[in-house]
Amino acid sequence: MNDAEISAAATLEPVADVAHRAGIPADALIPYGRHMAKVDTTRLPPGDPGRAGRVVLVTGISPTPAGEGKSTVTVGLTDGLNLLARADDAPVTWAGKTALAALREPSLGPVFGMKGGATGGGYAQVVPMENINLHFTGDFHAITSAHNLLCALVDNHLHRGNELRIDPRTITLKRALDTNDRSLRQTVIGLGGRTEGVPRENGFEITVATETMAVFCLATGLEDLKERLSRIIIGRTTDRQPVTVGDLGLHGAQGAMAVLLKDALKPNLVQTLGGSAAFVHGGPFANIAHGANSITATNTARRLADVVVTEAGFGADLGGQKFMDITAVAGGFPPAASVIVATVRALKLNGGMELADLDHHTADSERHHLEALEAGVANLARHIRNMAAYGVPVVVAVNRFPQDTQAELDWLTGWCARRSVPAAVAEVWARGGAGALEVARRLVEVLPAEGEDSGWRSLWTQDMTVAERIEAVVTQIYGGAGVEYTAGARAQLDQLVAEGWDHLPVCMAKTQYSFTDDPAVLGAPEDFTVIVRELALRPGAGFVVALTGSVMTMPGLPRTPAADSMDVDADGHVTGLF
Ligand code: ADP
Repeated sequence: MNDAEISAAATLEPVADVAHRAGIPADALIPYGRHMAKVDTTRLPPGDPGRAGRVVLVTGISPTPAGEGKSTVTVGLTDGLNLLARADDAPVTWAGKTALAALREPSLGPVFGMKGGATGGGYAQVVPMENINLHFTGDFHAITSAHNLLCALVDNHLHRGNELRIDPRTITLKRALDTNDRSLRQTVIGLGGRTEGVPRENGFEITVATETMAVFCLATGLEDLKERLSRIIIGRTTDRQPVTVGDLGLHGAQGAMAVLLKDALKPNLVQTLGGSAAFVHGGPFANIAHGANSITATNTARRLADVVVTEAGFGADLGGQKFMDITAVAGGFPPAASVIVATVRALKLNGGMELADLDHHTADSERHHLEALEAGVANLARHIRNMAAYGVPVVVAVNRFPQDTQAELDWLTGWCARRSVPAAVAEVWARGGAGALEVARRLVEVLPAEGEDSGWRSLWTQDMTVAERIEAVVTQIYGGAGVEYTAGARAQLDQLVAEGWDHLPVCMAKTQYSFTDDPAVLGAPEDFTVIVRELALRPGAGFVVALTGSVMTMPGLPRTPAADSMDVDADGHVTGLF
C-alpha cells in the first residue's frame, strides 16, 4: 500500500478524543471536521513553566532529492516514545510519560511538484494525510491573503500619490502564491493606463518563502505577530530610507494583516497513525527562512507533553543549524537532544555512488555498495560533530529503506557503536511506532531529566556581527575555510552596518545537498570557500538572509510533475497523492 492508501485504510479517532487525551479541554478545541481542530491556546490550563516539555529536534544528513525521512521519523519516534512509556519494561525515567509531535504544514508547491506531501510516510504518518496535504485548515490561504493584502496596499499607496516617496524600483516585496510556477518569478504589473496602477516590475514568491510566513512561524502570539509584521521592510524612499509595513496608512498595515492571520495563528491538532497527538502548523522554507513549524505550536505542545518531537527542514547544516541558533532562541526553548536521521542510500550518494545505482544490488556489486557507504559516512560524522557542538546529546536514527541490505545496516550501526554514538535502526515506515522503540530507548537514555539543563548553547553570542556569524557557520558547521562576498553583497553588508542592523542573527540560504554552496560537492569536503552573493534584510523575521549559490524563492515544476498522476473519482476518492 502507498502512503495515501495506508492513511485511507486507518481508523481515525475523533479529534475531540485525541485532544482529551492530550489534556486539551473541550472548550479550547475548534473542530475543523471530525479529525482536525485548531486549539485556542488562551483556553488551555496555565501549565507549570518548570515542567515544560523537552524539545527534541529531528534533523538529517545531506539528503538525496527524495528526502531522507525526517518527517517520517519524527512521527514514528513520537509513536515509539508513547509506546515505550506504556511498555512493561519502560525505562524508569520514561514510564508513564508522553510525547507529542510538532511538524510543518505541507506546501502545495512540492505536493504537486516533485517531492510529494510532507505528512511522513508508510505507517508513520500524520492523518488525515489527504486533508493535511491539501487545504487543511486554510492557514496557507490566510498567510497568502495577508501577504497579498500588503502588496495591494503598497501599490495602492503608489497609485494614490506616493506620500511616503517610495522608489518603486526598490520595492523588494513580491506577491505570493502557494504553487510552483516559474513563469511568475518576474512580472510587470500596473499596465493599462492611468487608472490601472503604477507600472513596475514585480514577481511572485511561493508562500512558504515569504517573510510573512517566517514572521507567522516565529511569532510568540498576536501582539508579537503585529510587532514583527510592522517591522517588515517593503522598499526604500527616493533617498534610500527603509519603508516598513508600520509606515503604511494611518497606523500601519500590520493590523489588517493580523486580522487575516488571527485564526490561522492557532495551532492545528491532528493525530498520528499510532494515535499520538500532533501539531501541524506553519511551514517556512528551510533555505530562505528558518524551516521549522510555528513557535506557537511548539510552545503549546510543551505545555501538554513531557517531550515534543519536532523537525527542521533539510539537513543538520541548514534546518538543524537554524533551529539551534534562531528558532530555539526566538521560542525560548533550549533543545534537549538532537536525533539525526541517516539513510544508507544518502550516505552512498555522499560516498560517490550514482543516484541511479543506489538501489541496484547484485551479487557482484555488494562490495561497491559497502565501499560507497564507508566513503559517505564522513558526511554523517560531520553532522554528528556539528549537533554535538551545540552541547546537546545526539542520537542517530538509521531510517531503513526496503532496498537496504542487512550488511549495510550492520556496518552503519557498527560504525556508530565504535564511535560511542547512540544509534539504532528505525523501521517506522514499515512498522510505525513499534519500529522506533530502539531509537526511543537510545533517546530516553541520553535525554536530560525534566528541568535539567540540556547543555544547549548557540554558536553565536549576542555581540557578534553579521559577518562574524556567517564566518562561524561556514567554518564551524560547514567545515569551510572562509567566506567571500560578491561586490554587491559587500555593499549590502556595509549598508547593514551603517544602518545599525549588524547585530541581527543570520539565516543562511544554501543548497541542502552539500556543505558547500555547490550542490554537486557531496560528502564532507574541506578547504572550500562559501560565496555570499546577497544579504537580504528581514527585520520582521528578525534576521538577515545570507544567500549563497542559487536559491529559488519561486520553484518551478519538473518535466513530469506529481500533478500528472493525480485524479479524483466520482465518489471523491483521490489517487496519486503520495
Ligand atoms: P524529509 O522529511 O526528510 O524530507 P519525508 O519523511 O517527507 O522526508 O520522506 C520523504 C519520502 O520518503 C516520503 O514519500 C516517505 O514516504 C518516503 N520514506 C521515508 N522513509 C522511508 C522508508 N524508510 N522507506 C521507504 N520510503 C520512505
